[in-house]
Amino acid sequence: MPLANGRHFLSIPGPSVMPDEVLRAMHRPATNIYEGALIEMTHGIVPDLKRVARTESRAMTFIGNGHAVWEAVIVNTLDAGEKALVLESGRFAVGWGEVAKALGVEIEVLNAPDRGGVDPQMVEDRLRTDTKHEIKAVLVVQIDTASGVWNDIAAIRRAIDAAGHPALYMVDCMASIGCVPYEMDAWGVDVTTAGSQKGLMTPPGLGFAWASQKAWDKTKTLTRGRAHWAWELRAEPEVFYQLFHGTAPVQHLYALRQALDMIFAEGLEAVWARHAAIGRGVRAAVSRWGENGPLELNILDPDACSDSVTTIRTGAIDAQALRACTETKLNVTLGTGLGELQGITFRIGHMGHVNAPMILGTLGSIELALAHMGAPYAPGGVEAAIAAMKDDVA
Ligand SMILES: *Cc1c(COP(=O)(O)O)cnc(C)c1O
Repeated sequence: MPLANGRHFLSIPGPSVMPDEVLRAMHRPATNIYEGALIEMTHGIVPDLKRVARTESRAMTFIGNGHAVWEAVIVNTLDAGEKALVLESGRFAVGWGEVAKALGVEIEVLNAPDRGGVDPQMVEDRLRTDTKHEIKAVLVVQIDTASGVWNDIAAIRRAIDAAGHPALYMVDCMASIGCVPYEMDAWGVDVTTAGSQKGLMTPPGLGFAWASQKAWDKTKTLTRGRAHWAWELRAEPEVFYQLFHGTAPVQHLYALRQALDMIFAEGLEAVWARHAAIGRGVRAAVSRWGENGPLELNILDPDACSDSVTTIRTGAIDAQALRACTETKLNVTLGTGLGELQGITFRIGHMGHVNAPMILGTLGSIELALAHMGAPYAPGGVEAAIAAMKDDVA
């Protein structure tokens, strides 16, 4: 394997590549968790979490991954027997709905058009028929990491408003926060969720939720018992860390602090623009490869393709063999297909700490693997990516 030695490239959609500065920030012994530097730093994280979601509402930090936060936000907003409308556009919204169902919430799934994003008109039409307002929450994913779709969160809000429906609007931003534009307050979102290990460039293990006043008020009406996940305990750092609602995740907090510093030093808009350019480059490469052969973008509408992850259908090319080739022969790890897309797709993660050399390295390595395998594809994917990104070099 003469080409595999050298730096390993992780090109999966989470956990994403952690900057060396973030890893170094974690490399410290446990500290005083009662007073001093850690407490002060934690206070500073809260306003920055609000900045990253563009909201004035409460920001909560949980110890747990994205699945844990899914559960946390459900137990804080919905009682057993209440109903939620899940807007499916890939595996992740479905997964969130399954968590809600296990917690006793009645689930109705509205499917997006095949290989597309959530259709706001369908949402409006469905909500209009719910004249008794039995639906208490609408659940959607901004970017679905399985399908690679990017849903229009503002348009879905307009659809809910057009139907005059009072349901809570809950958005999973795990694969999108710190990657693409998100405006929690301007778009009227009631609950936002995220995890640490994607656009926020921090190791897996922290989860975040942001809650509007409307969501906060709904919590007070609940009859279900809540303990560890009760979000009141996580909204104020002094309650969380100083009154012992669990040991503070010391090293993760230092990592997050460093990652947030890096995001704001670059500028959130600049971070979004970098992801936009790289997403465009990836799609240009995939489209070129597909000019001769079966490779194609999973999402058909170019406006609904995500800038943080791309899902590629491989047709007659064996997706797992392609992944195995890049993994073992070129030292590049690509994402597997998930759910019903398993075996017929692979995914490229381009979220968080990713720049032109990293993505061009990944694309070039995929092209090299295709050539090595003798797979049918049109060469020139890297050239197409360069053409798509050249005007972004500043
Ligand atoms: C990664 C991801 C999740 C789940 O997060 P885990 O930390 O893996 O539990 C949920 N939703 C989306 C959109 C994701 O990308």
